[in-house]
Amino acid sequence: MPVTPLPTPSPPTSFPIYAPSPARPARLWRPKRVLVTPASLEHAHGRAMLARAEGLGLHVERLAANRLSGLRDADPRRAYAEAKATLALVVAPPTKLRLQPIPPSADWRFDLAEGCPAHCQYCYLAGSLSGPPVTRAYANLDAILSNLGAYLGQGAVTSAQAPRAHEGTTFEASCYTDPLGIEHLTGSLSAAIRHFGAWKAPVQLRFTTKFAAVEPLLDLDHGRRTRIRFSVNARAAARYEGGTASLDARLRAMRAAAEAGYPVGLTIAPILPVPDWAAGYAALIREAAAALAGVPDLDLTAELITHRFTPGSKQVLEGWYPGSDLPLDEAARSRKLTKFGSVKYVFPKDLMQAMRESLFASLARDLPAARILYWT
Ligand code: SF4
Repeated sequence: MPVTPLPTPSPPTSFPIYAPSPARPARLWRPKRVLVTPASLEHAHGRAMLARAEGLGLHVERLAANRLSGLRDADPRRAYAEAKATLALVVAPPTKLRLQPIPPSADWRFDLAEGCPAHCQYCYLAGSLSGPPVTRAYANLDAILSNLGAYLGQGAVTSAQAPRAHEGTTFEASCYTDPLGIEHLTGSLSAAIRHFGAWKAPVQLRFTTKFAAVEPLLDLDHGRRTRIRFSVNARAAARYEGGTASLDARLRAMRAAAEAGYPVGLTIAPILPVPDWAAGYAALIREAAAALAGVPDLDLTAELITHRFTPGSKQVLEGWYPGSDLPLDEAARSRKLTKFGSVKYVFPKDLMQAMRESLFASLARDLPAARILYWT
């Protein structure tokens, strides 16, 4: 099947070799509104998040009921913009305490929040969130964390696969949010890292992020039981990632986390046939290697995820980003059925194979320390 290359971005792409530059303060999200449900204030963590919001001088609205309402707008663009500027403090429903497997990343997924303030045109949340994309931070953190113990030693990914068994029972915290992007407002991620640090068992907390504000995490007693993965892409894809930290900032943050003793990782995603894609991804991997050069006791993984979409995620993304040139043409893709019988569109086999070989070769040549966990 012919593959339509992506349009050349403007301005022209270049692939500079990574050179450490002085760290600048990361850009932190300031929501326009913070909605506070009564139920969230019954939890110490809810009250702590409210104190953070008030301390930052944010506009706080205490709701009379626990249901978030009034978020829809006849104009979908305005509804999207308002929702993306809103943080809600809520209590996670009981269903959130029944964990789901999350192959190929981890044994289990659990959620500290739902939603993300960034504006990625290929956001993977588009297929899983319903309604306006308000960021909801969960106040019942104690229940969420204490619930994890029931899953120790269970699972079908790291707990069952010999090559990854040393990771222990793994818990993925970034399926429905980017927990680092909202950490300055919640403190939930730090609490989870401390929880795993104190959990003297073969377990691992995992999260991936397109943000870079790792400073509050660096001194935590993490016990090397949290793997921080940085979601990165070829520089030609940067225009699809509104509101995130720059690639340079993410690479600096990865080095800082690794120097603080954290296992780290690269989530290269979503892999796209951007112009001159092989050179673009090779440059990305060289930059990552340069960013990590000389880090002692480096524990590094790589997860490689190609772009895919579903009819539902395409519809949501076209509503959120009507001007995007992200390639969502079914005719240029292979149609696949998931194990649940739903449809997804992936790149044709020949292109998949070419990209796989190219990225694997780049990693083997320029970043051999990276243990590749999966390609999908
Ligand atoms: Fe979506 Fe991640 Fe981008 Fe947030 S940072 S908008 S979760 S892809």
